[in-house]
Amino acid sequence: MISFNVPPVVGTELEYIRQALESKKISGDGEFTKRCRKFMQERFNAPHVLLTTSGTSALDMACLLCEFRRGDEVILPSYTFSSTANSVILTGATPVFVDIRPDTMNIDEAKIEAAITDRTRAIMVVHYAGVSCEMDTVMDIARRYGLKVIEDAAQAVMCTYKGRYLGTIGDYGCYSFHETKNYSMGEGGALLVNRDGDLERAEILREKGTNRSKFFRGQIDKYTWVDFGDSYLPSEINAAYLWAQLEKIEEIYDDRMRSYKRYAEAFAPLVEQGVIEVQTIPEKCVHNAHMFYLKLRHLAQRTAFIDHMKSRGISAVFHYVPLHSAPAGLRYGRFNGEDVYTTVESERLVRLPMYYGLTEEDQDEVIRAVTDFFDLRNRYDLSSEADFGKDK
Ligand SMILES: *Cc1c(COP(=O)(O)O)cnc(C)c1O
Repeated sequence: MISFNVPPVVGTELEYIRQALESKKISGDGEFTKRCRKFMQERFNAPHVLLTTSGTSALDMACLLCEFRRGDEVILPSYTFSSTANSVILTGATPVFVDIRPDTMNIDEAKIEAAITDRTRAIMVVHYAGVSCEMDTVMDIARRYGLKVIEDAAQAVMCTYKGRYLGTIGDYGCYSFHETKNYSMGEGGALLVNRDGDLERAEILREKGTNRSKFFRGQIDKYTWVDFGDSYLPSEINAAYLWAQLEKIEEIYDDRMRSYKRYAEAFAPLVEQGVIEVQTIPEKCVHNAHMFYLKLRHLAQRTAFIDHMKSRGISAVFHYVPLHSAPAGLRYGRFNGEDVYTTVESERLVRLPMYYGLTEEDQDEVIRAVTDFFDLRNRYDLSSEADFGKDK
């Protein structure tokens, strides 16, 4: 069986975890957390990075720091993970969903302005598959309407837009180090705080409402409860795992890109023939091979495709069911404008096995299974669906 995902392991994780145990410091904000933080700040040219317990908690922190209130509205795409919308709901605000662009599956920046009301407080963008949203446009709209920008960059570690690292462009950026992401610590994430004035509140929120972070830096001689807070510190055990991964950040990146390029080359003929579509990477974006997806004709063909892959021992999976049509989305949110692409495009998308250490042998097997599926189909029913792709 070829899995869809295998959690990244570079080999030094256990040694660093052992070191964490020996240091007699396994709770948060020890040596490994500091190293990870410093590394990311330098590598991504990020003003401030705070490790968190998950990508979800980084999103929660960002929304709490924006101080959304009941009745406020936050604009985001419906094609995303539940956490993006949950963080809005946590504050009592309302998620307002906007349609996506079919080429990147990201929020359609041209449809944001129409969704703005006098209650709108922020735009949350999701950089799907590590491909950037149109950030110049998003930031310009935010500036004109006085809105905050939160980047859900959970999938976008190591990606750039016009040379700037994703997560560092808006007011806040949120990374995930879940086992399904490019870099992992089991469960974990990071909040990027991009405005200097927001750092102190972020540290207090993360440290149970205390100013302990300031105390540890020796800036004050005792710490106390100063504001509302929660606990978002990952343990040193998790940070040790992440440090091993960050040390190999380029190696993991290169390995995934190699697999991405092999897929892209192998499927180029099918794309040229109009049989499938693959993801597009706009010129100004550098991605991280977080995923490789195909788009098939429609839901029925995708279902047949997934079954076919399964029969060949390969796990190929679809992705988000649009949030606005999910039970919680119907209860808590609303969709602004017309759902032109969100639902139909989400039903066509299927992801192929992609992970650090995917062997060429296994990848060739996946490629063969994909091409076989379309060879078989070409024999009988391509003609009945010959109009596919003509209006694209
Ligand atoms: C993975 C992911 C999250 C959640 O991250 P966790 O670390 O699993 O909490 C949020 N948003 C997007 C787009 C993601 O892909």
